Amino acid sequence: LTRVLTGITTSGTPHLGNYVGAIRPAVAASHAPGVESFYFLADYHALIKVQDPARVQRSTLEIAATWLACGLEPDKVWFYRQSDIPETNELTWLLTCVAGKGILNRAHAYKAAVDKNRIDGEDDDAGITAGLFMYPVLMAADILLFNANQVPVGRDQIQHIEMARDFGQRFNHLYGEHFALPEAAIEENVATLPGLDGRKMSKSYDNTIPLFAPRETLKKLIYSIVTDSRAPGETKDADNSNVFQLYQAFASKQETEAMRRAFADGIAWGEAKQALFERIDAEIAPQREKYEALIARPADIEAVLRDGAKRLRERYAVPTLQALRTAVGLRDLS
Ligand code: ATP
Repeated sequence: LTRVLTGITTSGTPHLGNYVGAIRPAVAASHAPGVESFYFLADYHALIKVQDPARVQRSTLEIAATWLACGLEPDKVWFYRQSDIPETNELTWLLTCVAGKGILNRAHAYKAAVDKNRIDGEDDDAGITAGLFMYPVLMAADILLFNANQVPVGRDQIQHIEMARDFGQRFNHLYGEHFALPEAAIEENVATLPGLDGRKMSKSYDNTIPLFAPRETLKKLIYSIVTDSRAPGETKDADNSNVFQLYQAFASKQETEAMRRAFADGIAWGEAKQALFERIDAEIAPQREKYEALIARPADIEAVLRDGAKRLRERYAVPTLQALRTAVGLRDLS
């Protein structure tokens, strides 16, 4: 049995990048036979970046409604909020005690923060929390707690999966075979979508196109995508165009090739953006309608999340932690 685990950080409103990179492929994969799927709202992770309680709560609701609107069936998969499973935190500590600090020093997110401080002439660790530093251990706990053996991720996350393997392996070596070692499942044909400013679309950069923005807002945002100043009739470079990359993520092969030729023929930016808007809207309009109905009933979403976490704790999290506590020499709480 393959166990697949996917999480989205509850740090803001879900966007087209989350949809193309995580939600769309994950929902499609959830119907595959022989697969047990875990989908969680990563709210412990959100606290690393967001210290605004209302934003975390709103985001949790929005991301949960998004999964459901996109076709996730909570009675067929494990669907839960990370912080509803406090065993995650306890496992984080057990793993912290075997994780090499030197490995964490090399984590991309931490190194990037240090590099930025150096460029800004600050002390290396200025403004960096231990939460950011420890984030790979929390992520390892998310994965190892359920012995997930496949974690679909973008290339930037491969390192974190390798760390989870490393921590799991060290634990197994010391205390016996408790954890399956996870593998990164790299979705080769899933693109990283650019945001409005051309950088990776990310909740943290405020450059996103919200997945379920009202139709008119979606249109306005698409028209605000930064483009170069080539005039209509001038050949445009599809491979270096944000508009084209977004189009490709929503269009069929044939449509994409037709658009590539239109770029070579000098399609006007306005026209290309209109085609992009129509393509995206055609794909997501039915889900948008479901989303709007769901988000109007937060108590129902809350009930789904609580039920998922309750069942998952009983089935896996609580017994697993009991076994781990015993293995390391702590008291059995049962
Ligand atoms: P944050 O800025 O809080 O890190 P994010 O929007 O970058 O948030 P995450 O919540 O960390 O996204 O990631 C959730 C999933 O969405 C991951 O699987 C990630 O690979 C995917 N994802 C995020 N941004 C993009 C993007 N621009 N293109 C494709 N996939 C993306």
